[in-house]
Amino acid sequence: MMARSVRLFIITLLAAFVPILPSAGAAETPITLHVATRTVAPLVQKDNGRLTGFSIDLWNAVADRLGVRSDFAEMPDIDSLLASVHEGKADVGVAAISITADRDKTFDFSQPMLGAGLQILVRGKSDQGAPNPLQGFMRLLLSPVILVWLGIAAVLIVVPAHIIWFLERRAPGGIIPERGYFPGIFHALWWAAGTLATQADQMPRQWLARVVAVLWMFTGVIFVAYYTAQLTAALTVEQIQGDINGPDDLPGKRVATTLGSTAATFLKGQHARVQEFAAIDAAYRALLDGTADAVVFDAPVILYFAEHEGKGRVQTAGAVFRKEDYGIVFAEGSPLRKKVDEALLELRENGTYAQIYQKWFGAN
Ligand code: GLU
Repeated sequence: MMARSVRLFIITLLAAFVPILPSAGAAETPITLHVATRTVAPLVQKDNGRLTGFSIDLWNAVADRLGVRSDFAEMPDIDSLLASVHEGKADVGVAAISITADRDKTFDFSQPMLGAGLQILVRGKSDQGAPNPLQGFMRLLLSPVILVWLGIAAVLIVVPAHIIWFLERRAPGGIIPERGYFPGIFHALWWAAGTLATQADQMPRQWLARVVAVLWMFTGVIFVAYYTAQLTAALTVEQIQGDINGPDDLPGKRVATTLGSTAATFLKGQHARVQEFAAIDAAYRALLDGTADAVVFDAPVILYFAEHEGKGRVQTAGAVFRKEDYGIVFAEGSPLRKKVDEALLELRENGTYAQIYQKWFGAN
């Protein structure tokens, strides 16, 4: 506690003298700020042992404007990162840190540095194993679409069968050879079913029955066309969608994410079977080796993985469903916050922010 207040006091003193323009005070030894971070590509990542990424580039630009040096310390998870800022071991935390109401009670945040939010990642279709064609066919045969259409077909057979039976039963040489209801109705049903499937092989002899038959042949054509269209649509949707298409499909599923993250908190509330890993890479591995059904994490991070290392093996499921913003975190009352905020605004105004954004996220 003592160490923390002494440290805050020294920073307050130093912050008062921190030059805003890098050229000023060049002769003085720059102050070194302790920066807690953690790898969450592409916000923070390692290239040949050197820290880089959107958040690191942005922080370095801020540090440049403030004329300070940075001493980075890598933390295994978000909780230990926040703890090191809280305990005063680090002056700031810079990574993929979501600004939340709960964290805001204990910490101060810079103004938002990037829009984020949660999104779902699942294995790509090619990675879900080759589908069994027989199983797919059986599932289709038993699907509700088929049952509804069988019901419609039954009505479309029974009704005209009775009309034709009634009109044709007295016509000699017609399609109903017997006069009685049985077995005459069976002939009529057979004829109606064939006509509905556009396979009529006999025509009634009685003139009114012929009019009904022609109408029914048209109905058959429409029925088959409409039915084929519906079935094709249902099949396509089934092929495109997987088991998990949005947050509502998460309860009971094995979902990997990082320890202490906002995603983990969300998933627990959603009654998913949460698997928490220190590193997001471990969550990706769990998804790829099939021990997890999905990864839920920050959208910019997941999209980057889907576009790069995970390309062809993973895909996002649904849109961003809980908006969050990333910020730089400080201990409550840190005098650095205002200077960092000013620097962030200047970097937006002079185009540096856009350059860094473009470098890591492209045009979108
Ligand atoms: N945006 C997440 C959070 O702030 C990141 C968690 C992490 O770094 O693992 O909770």
